Amino acid sequence: MILSAIFGRSQSDLLAILVVSIATIAIITRQWKKLSLPTVPVSVNYHFTRECNKTCGFCFHTEKSSFVESKQNAQRGLRLLKEAGMRKINFAGGEPFLYPRFLGELCQYCKTVLHLESVSIITNGTKITPSWLQQYGEYVDVRVSCDSFNEQTNIEIGRGSGENVRKLFQISQWCRTYGIKFKLNTVVCKLNCQEDMAETVERLAPFRWKCFQVLLVEGENDAADTELDVRKRNAKNLMISDEEYEQFCSRHRHLKCFVPEPNNLMASSYLILDEYMRFLDKGPGYETASPSILEVGVAKAMEFITWDAKSFRDRGGTYDWSKKVDDESCRGKNSGKELEW
Ligand code: SF4
Repeated sequence: MILSAIFGRSQSDLLAILVVSIATIAIITRQWKKLSLPTVPVSVNYHFTRECNKTCGFCFHTEKSSFVESKQNAQRGLRLLKEAGMRKINFAGGEPFLYPRFLGELCQYCKTVLHLESVSIITNGTKITPSWLQQYGEYVDVRVSCDSFNEQTNIEIGRGSGENVRKLFQISQWCRTYGIKFKLNTVVCKLNCQEDMAETVERLAPFRWKCFQVLLVEGENDAADTELDVRKRNAKNLMISDEEYEQFCSRHRHLKCFVPEPNNLMASSYLILDEYMRFLDKGPGYETASPSILEVGVAKAMEFITWDAKSFRDRGGTYDWSKKVDDESCRGKNSGKELEW
């Protein structure tokens, strides 16, 4: 009956029916996706500043603004996140240690007032001081970025000073002295993908060593060479193939602390909060932002982005945050066992 009704109509009627059907399916699919999206922000990366003292060619959170929230607003936002289910916070930038007091006070607040299970910082390491670690170290884990043990490579990448490796060993020692979990991050790109970093990483003995495949994010690090300035970057020349990334991984996979993060796990698996406390979606296509959680709350803001909870789990995003410093070791073989919860 339906078919005969349809076939009895003109071509333009059939076209209209087709368009309406496609639109209806698209709306239902979008609503279903929204409903099935996770609304619990278990782990959040708060990039409270975009300012940085380095100029890495692959940076995908560049200096678009110099805004930093007031301490009161930042604390209010962090409390909202905790009430929405956040268990882990990572302070990032830009370079968070450009605001050492603000950073220290937020770390302390997250640990002693909000009682978060895990508080960490991702830094390029250049501004860390032993006195800061002594004062605030009991509240945090420290993750330092270092892409090469060859100083010239670090300089070419834009993160180098000629002193990175010496400073890295110093920080790992300070962390040991003050009982802080020390972790390492590396972005694998064209300039370091041939390097064998295993022996030095073993000596540094980080708790975890995350190795990211360099990622291109539209509107952040895909600028044309003619547009480059202090904030615009072009990572196109630093990109590597999946095969090159895999070769780097197979050279280091035997290390117990080694955690690979290829592009397919990275793009939407991080919940990123920017300096205005807006969630950013750095997934496929142009980067988009939600309204601020300070204005619309956490659940509403999360509706504006896609957070790939499966990739978050796949990349070990819920590893055992409660592991003690004494448990750390990159010395030894990787058991191949998945990181627990
Ligand atoms: S990637 Fe480099 S330039 Fe970007 S925030 Fe980190 S250290 Fe700074």
